[in-house]
Amino acid sequence: MAAADKALTRERLVSAVQAEDDASFELKLRPRLLREFIGQNKVKENLSVAIEAARSRGEALDHVLLSGPPGLGKTTLATIIANEMSVPCQQTAGPAIQIKGDLTAVLTNLTERQVLFFDEVHRLQPALEEILYSALEDYKLDIIIGQGPSARTHTIDVSPFTFVAATTRAGLLSAPLRSRFGILLRLEFYNTDELKFIIERSAEILGVQIDDEGAQELAGRARGTPRIANRLLRRVRDFAQVRGQGRIDKATAQAALEMLEVDKHGFDEIDRRLLLTIIQKYNGGPVGLGTLAAALSEETEALEEIYEPFLMQIGFLDRTPRGRMATRLAYEHFGIRYGRQDGLF
Ligand code: ADP
Repeated sequence: MAAADKALTRERLVSAVQAEDDASFELKLRPRLLREFIGQNKVKENLSVAIEAARSRGEALDHVLLSGPPGLGKTTLATIIANEMSVPCQQTAGPAIQIKGDLTAVLTNLTERQVLFFDEVHRLQPALEEILYSALEDYKLDIIIGQGPSARTHTIDVSPFTFVAATTRAGLLSAPLRSRFGILLRLEFYNTDELKFIIERSAEILGVQIDDEGAQELAGRARGTPRIANRLLRRVRDFAQVRGQGRIDKATAQAALEMLEVDKHGFDEIDRRLLLTIIQKYNGGPVGLGTLAAALSEETEALEEIYEPFLMQIGFLDRTPRGRMATRLAYEHFGIRYGRQDGLF
């Protein structure tokens, strides 16, 4: 198999989670200013007012909480906030901060008004979370030096900074932490027009020719997610270079996406298995999340964070108090007659 073909048949093309080889590619395509950021108009409006006000007062921007599924632009927005405020952006993540010393080091090294981007904040350990509270509220940090009776508490100042936290699971955040954010923003899935725009912008940066229908074809299969849109563009560009004339039109896009087994909703193997398991094994549901995850050999977290949000957004899946249910649309997608075999509805 040729190297290009191998690259084309990579698995999990439509996962919203960042893959290893996405990082440098994404850096090139990442919008740097708010006006280059496509879609999410409410979020942009809120941010631009807050940024303008903070700038005119010469203060650090209020702490920002960004929530939403992976790949929708949380990291991008954090860097945009720093750029718009003309301050540096330092990045860390919940799982990277293991001990108190890690967090203290990050906080004490901050410079005036800078952005501290904290990804996966819901994964920060509760004991460490408490240290954050006073840093966020009063820009102070209590550290205990020594042990036992000779232990002393020292309070050190932290430079006024902007904490930009991202989470895919806003519901898991503790109330005290949540209350420290002045600006709470929720990112939504993008519509096809917005994704088309993102694809056209990326194509221009990459120097790839793509026509209107080609862009439309990719946009429709990107699961409402810019990261996937960009990744599809990259793969289809390879295909167009190897098999076509290097230009992405509707026919090239369709042929490439067919080869890559990305269907018209951008479903991958797990989406299909998830829905078919509910339909065929559990009679359409309701089925509990744990049972479903076990049946699919997947983590419950992955189902909740990555797969379910999009399936719910397009109306294929319902989350009910009794469990997950496949909708009529899901049945129709697979050409299965809607209704339960046991005649309950
Ligand atoms: P998250 O942090 O939410 O997982 P990222 O900010 O890393 O997502 O975004 C993934 C990629 O998608 C970025 O590299 C960027 O190129 C692209 N992207 C995200 N949102 C937008 C947008 N609104 N406009 C243009 N490109 C975007």
